[in-house]
Amino acid sequence: MARSDTDSWDLASSVGATATMVAAARAIASAEPEPLIDDPYAAKLVRAVGVEFFTKLVDGDIALDGELAEGAELMIGIMAVRTKFFDDFFLAATGEAGVRQAVILASGLDSRAYRLPWPEGTVVYEIDQPEVIGAKTATMNQIGATPSAERRTVAVDLRDDWPAALRAAGFDPAAPSAWSAEGLLAYLPPAAQDRLFDNITALSAPGSRLATEFHPDMAANLRERGNAMSEQWRQHGLDLDLGNLWYDGERNSVVEYLTDAGWSVTARRRPELFAEYGRTFPAGETAAHQRNSQAIIAVRN
Ligand code: SAM
Repeated sequence: MARSDTDSWDLASSVGATATMVAAARAIASAEPEPLIDDPYAAKLVRAVGVEFFTKLVDGDIALDGELAEGAELMIGIMAVRTKFFDDFFLAATGEAGVRQAVILASGLDSRAYRLPWPEGTVVYEIDQPEVIGAKTATMNQIGATPSAERRTVAVDLRDDWPAALRAAGFDPAAPSAWSAEGLLAYLPPAAQDRLFDNITALSAPGSRLATEFHPDMAANLRERGNAMSEQWRQHGLDLDLGNLWYDGERNSVVEYLTDAGWSVTARRRPELFAEYGRTFPAGETAAHQRNSQAIIAVRN
């Protein structure tokens, strides 16, 4: 179904199902022989959502062969590296940089508030749509998971006045903060992406940090790839139209936009980031649309 300005979802539908999709990739990546990441909650969270395709995937009940294998392996590899990148970002921000408030935008089934070794006194804010926040919190309670920081949830749509909701939850704009926007930008219209960064900038005291990703080839290639992946999954019973969940249209370059807004920005392309973590970014056509995607870290001047 096409997107609308006020659409909403749970973890089994529309944009919400993509949170389950990437959690499934983290679960599989965590179970690899020499894993780059260890997310002990991902598989449990995926099973609790109850989308048969993703449950079967994490339980190894769908044979990953042929075209399905190539696409799935690419996504699992990318999610492992992406997860490690954002983990390391938060560890550095709260470690050597001493930041004590973290904001995870579009938190989905991200379990960082439970699994990272946050320094004493760190508050982690998670923002996502109400049903997403509610379902994850319920599952984590059910399985007896305890946050490793003070976790505060902010159940609000990121197209609404989320800064007010974040402040109401206790966020202090006068103190430095660490932000992640992971797997989010493609689900916002281009103007909403700019507004998101304007809001983050307005809430960020000097010394604040932001990690995100930007896909310059989104419009040209990613949609086509999304449609191809959705078609393969449909053959296994999953009806998730990825290509229709992403927004078209020219986007501002995140690097330029943040630089103009007063951030010092560093960006690394996927092959460079993979190499840093001892992995090789795949050379083939299937991965071509992701090769120029950038992992971005910005520090507020
Ligand atoms: N960041 C998480 C991760 O990497 O595991 C989830 C990524 S998932 C691909 C996309 C997430 O963005 C979903 O959890 C979805 O609910 C959230 N999201 C997208 N648009 C949103 C909006 N307008 N308001 C709140 N959350 C949104």
